[in-house]
Amino acid sequence: MTVRFGGFKAVDDLDLDVDAGKLTALIGPNGAGKTTFFNAVSGLIRPNEGCVRLNGHDITGARPYQITAAGMLRSFQIARGFPRLTVFEHLMLYDQHNPGENIVTALFGGWRKREGETAERALGVARRLEIDHVLDNRVTEISGGQKKLLEIGRGLMAEPDLLLLDEPVAGVNPTLAEQIGDRLRDLVAGGLTILLIEHDMALVGRIADHVIVMAEGKQLATGRFEEVRNDTNVQNAYLGG
Ligand code: ADP
Repeated sequence: MTVRFGGFKAVDDLDLDVDAGKLTALIGPNGAGKTTFFNAVSGLIRPNEGCVRLNGHDITGARPYQITAAGMLRSFQIARGFPRLTVFEHLMLYDQHNPGENIVTALFGGWRKREGETAERALGVARRLEIDHVLDNRVTEISGGQKKLLEIGRGLMAEPDLLLLDEPVAGVNPTLAEQIGDRLRDLVAGGLTILLIEHDMALVGRIADHVIVMAEGKQLATGRFEEVRNDTNVQNAYLGG
């Protein structure tokens, strides 16, 4: 895949595969093109060349809701807009991001039934992430780590096969980062595929099955964390050499 901004190739003929049922970490120095790649994969921008395939389907240029329906979800930071809502309500809100679906269910009278199903799902997601004890707390009352888990939980409400995460432990302390890492491993053990961008190398070393290193829009190295860490090209890229 290639993504250009004017004459500049932010993603330069990059060809990546993500193994199903594994946790893959995308790392690389600032400006490597990681975010641009995520934006192209998740449908926010269209690649200039190449395509995105998910479960055998070509989803290049598809709308974000179509991509979600195909089984991929990108988790975003929780908007600051709803400080009065509880953790449970934030999980329930997920459905309101699919207005098309809500109109259909409303038309066919299935709304109440669906609301019950969504509540069940919210409870299940909260249990898997071990945030079920704060379901009734407002988001302003939970810790930074719990907020990160809630962001992941919002993504899981769509029951994706592949979850894309942007720096899931950014800004949380090392102990909480470890706990979040453990929950991510639990999700992968349960069959989820995860692709994450992460700068915290301790976390990547602990939880990633597979690491892809990007630099200047290209893939620089790939393999297990120990392998890529010892790669001279990778060390030079991080040192700006
Ligand atoms: P990373 O996430 O690895 O830090 P980015 O994907 O954010 O890297 O950026 C890759 C390169 O593309 C950078 O040089 C950045 O300045 C450039 N870039 C990103 N978005 C745009 C844009 N909308 N317009 C022009 N250049 C951009």
